[in-house]
Amino acid sequence: MSQHFLLSSAARSLSLATVARMSDEEAWSAFKAIRWSDTQGEAVCPRCGCLDSYTYKTRKVFRCRGCSHQFTVTSGTIFASRKLAIRDYLLAIAIFVNGAKGHSALQLSRDLNCQYKTAYVLAMKLREAVGAETDGQQASGQVEIDGGYFGGYVKAANQKENRRDRRLVRNQNGKRKVVIVMRERNGKTLSFVSPSEDAAVPTIRERVASGSIVHADEASHWDQLHARFETKRINHSLAYSNGEACTNQAESFFSRLRRAEIGIHHHVAGPYLASYANEMTWREDNRRVSNGELYLMAADAALKHPISKHWKGYWQRNVKR
Ligand SMILES: [Zn+2]
Repeated sequence: MSQHFLLSSAARSLSLATVARMSDEEAWSAFKAIRWSDTQGEAVCPRCGCLDSYTYKTRKVFRCRGCSHQFTVTSGTIFASRKLAIRDYLLAIAIFVNGAKGHSALQLSRDLNCQYKTAYVLAMKLREAVGAETDGQQASGQVEIDGGYFGGYVKAANQKENRRDRRLVRNQNGKRKVVIVMRERNGKTLSFVSPSEDAAVPTIRERVASGSIVHADEASHWDQLHARFETKRINHSLAYSNGEACTNQAESFFSRLRRAEIGIHHHVAGPYLASYANEMTWREDNRRVSNGELYLMAADAALKHPISKHWKGYWQRNVKR
């Protein structure tokens, strides 16, 4: 089998300066090569799959000879109905992958000199595309499980006499959610969001393959896992690893997500917590991949991902935010 295009030396070249210097023509060719890598950059009609199309030279529009459908290099992908120049999307991807702890939309809007709203939706689309890789997958082998709480911050009252114990459920605002991670030793990382660790147990049963060996901490709700998996427990008040059980890989994922929360986004709670968590599993799993390859992987994921139901026309629609 021939080498995948994305791994070939022809496809490897990344510095922001190189991307920023691309002409419109070069950026368009790069997009074509990534989107239609299976056909060496030859356009494939998204409607009928026909390879025979012609281009209007001046407009960069393809017309299919089979079904007369008109399409562009971004039609039917996550970048459909794009607002920016193609080169700016490549630049956005290059910037996005370079941030080991993520990249905020505000920074991206300054980098690209575009509106904050445009940068926000663009970054969310990239999160959706890279996060989709692990949708519906199961973890297997030695699997570390852990939960980390995010969001629902309640500010302390100004006057001391008005302050409440914010650790008590009745003094919280109900917005605190837990990200659950299932991390294979020497393998992939999966995550999902749950109201509590206890409520996450049924999903863990579904998403961890039977026959796996599960590692978890001493929290009592993980006792339920013993009925289904061979489960090893580590009591963190005594040790972080006892030679048998250890959840340090899962903790390492939370370290990245926590730093992204504190240092980059300041707020990764609410309905999009899962998107940020999936982005961080992708970064964690690909942490030893060169940025040139990451750039191609993210561009490939975005150009092969269908139009986003949620993010398409986000600011034009009346989306509950
Ligand atoms: Zn067609």
